[in-house]
Amino acid sequence: LLQFRKKELLFKILVIGDFGVGKTSIIRRYADGTFSSSYKITIGADFAIKSISWDKNTQINIQLWDIAGHERFGSLTGVYYRYAVAAAIVFDLTRPETFRSVEKWLLDLRRKVHLPGSHPVPVVILANKGDITIATLPNEIVNFCEKYNILAWFITSAKDNVHIDEAMLTLINAAVDNH
Ligand code: GDP
Ligand code: MG
Repeated sequence: LLQFRKKELLFKILVIGDFGVGKTSIIRRYADGTFSSSYKITIGADFAIKSISWDKNTQINIQLWDIAGHERFGSLTGVYYRYAVAAAIVFDLTRPETFRSVEKWLLDLRRKVHLPGSHPVPVVILANKGDITIATLPNEIVNFCEKYNILAWFITSAKDNVHIDEAMLTLINAAVDNH
């Protein structure tokens, strides 16, 4: 029996957005299927890895980078962004002001990282905590996505595991296409 090694790809994906919107919860939900309602502040550079059997020849290792307590600076160092192939920008549906920060995070991202050939990194927007409310869904979101060429947006819940896989898959598909 001959065994062939699968091709392995490593994709660095960023999860950014204001403090408390659910970034760490989304990463935990996606990477190990867990959720905790107790509030733990993440400190330091932090990432989780999820390995996906993409097809019979390809294994994809997703490295999900957590912003890890640097939210208050409103921008991150280039080191954090380096080599990223996709990003999820998260806001909190229970706090409309966190949507207004999405633009700031997007512009910071687009200033600091590009794909080879200076193409922009693909982005999805996650309107998180959809299990609590969707009443405050900003009506500007569709225009925003058009204006900034956002791949897609999703109402998510890290708590109830809603649309997290779909959102990540959208980013992974884009990263595979760009690869
Ligand atoms: P971060 O600062 O962006 O990393 O936010 P966290 O992941 O630490 O989440 C902040 C708080 O919101 C925590 O108490 C989480 O349990 C809670 N949380 C995160 N996502 C959700 C969600 O989808 N639904 C609900 N109900 N709570 C959430
Ligand atoms: Mg966190």
